Amino acid sequence: MIEKRWDLTKVTDRIQLQAIKQRRPLSCTMELTYRCNFRCRMCYVRMTDSQAAPYGRLRTVEEWLDMARQMRDAGVLYLTLTGGECTQYPGFEQLYEQLALMGFRITIMSNAGAYTDSIREVFRRYPPANVDITLYGGSNETYAAVTGDPRGLDKVMENIRFLQSIRVNVGLNFTMIRQNALDYLKVGKLCQGLGIPYTLITDITRHRHNPSFSDALQCRLTPAERACIACHPPEEATLALENAKELEQELKHFQMPKAPAEALPSETDVCIGSMVSSAIYWNGDMESCISMNGYCCAKPFEIGFEAAWAQLKDQFQETFRRPAVCQACSMKNDCLQNCTARRYEGTGSPHEPDPYTCQYTYLLRLYRARHEVTDIPTDPTCA
Ligand code: SF4
Ligand code: SF4
Repeated sequence: MIEKRWDLTKVTDRIQLQAIKQRRPLSCTMELTYRCNFRCRMCYVRMTDSQAAPYGRLRTVEEWLDMARQMRDAGVLYLTLTGGECTQYPGFEQLYEQLALMGFRITIMSNAGAYTDSIREVFRRYPPANVDITLYGGSNETYAAVTGDPRGLDKVMENIRFLQSIRVNVGLNFTMIRQNALDYLKVGKLCQGLGIPYTLITDITRHRHNPSFSDALQCRLTPAERACIACHPPEEATLALENAKELEQELKHFQMPKAPAEALPSETDVCIGSMVSSAIYWNGDMESCISMNGYCCAKPFEIGFEAAWAQLKDQFQETFRRPAVCQACSMKNDCLQNCTARRYEGTGSPHEPDPYTCQYTYLLRLYRARHEVTDIPTDPTCA
């Protein structure tokens, strides 16, 4: 999320440090579409066309290519293509090929559930630097329950094997909700069989436009379930969920941390991502981070990429200001997921702590201390 160990013998680290020093754009996420082949119950972005209509329109291939040229001229080297499912964007193959020819290092974020022959062909000809794939279960039955696709896992595994056959670097995440928590061990074994480590994600937020567009808040793990899952190995998922019932009771002693009476000096979240990155959404709005949708709403397709970048930079101090309550909080060193964007996703304001995060941190500390757990999974990083 926020910290990174620098290795100055690596050219990539030297490039990143230089961009941070000069506050220049180095990477950008293009969120090509809200559409997706899956219908995950906890999704924060997928919409039908009629749900999406009030928020804007998809950008055309030509518009994205023009934006990419502006980014390249501004110094952007790394592109991440995401969605929805980015490969569902109409014209994906044409856009991807041109971006690859422009020399960007491209990461694809994908569910890997729907690659056509033409998508495979363009990946074969221009292999992406990375494909980061999210898994939703360890069986077709679980995929049906989470994504709505009863053959989901078969399709995903076939596409992962295809990517491995063309020697693409594949990264895996497992997004856990109540409907797939008991697949923890199965997913671990699948990843082991593929020879790819995975990152567990249990932090789920509401749909970004309208909470009623998904069941995210109903199907995510409770803070107690998350804490217990974090402290147990995959083979103990059932025990972890059982223990969560007792841990849940401890919430009666929980109180939201309060802001200190005296004013504190203003601090900002030191977020490497926000200093050199930006995200442009399917409707053309731009933010410093993909999780800040709707906050600054810079308009690069209207004012140009450089001007939109300058606008976000001007608002940086205000946007990434850390709330006094978090600065003074006694749990802050254990609070792993409290970044500006996460607060914004959870509460609609980057300056308010999210109670879901605070409760999780409180219970995780309790459970770790009681069970003397020292080794817990860390969060995904966006550095
Ligand atoms: S695969 Fe991702 S984008 Fe698609 S519905 Fe599931 S969570 Fe949403
Ligand atoms: S988000 Fe974390 S640091 Fe902020 S008040 Fe809650 S527990 Fe404390």
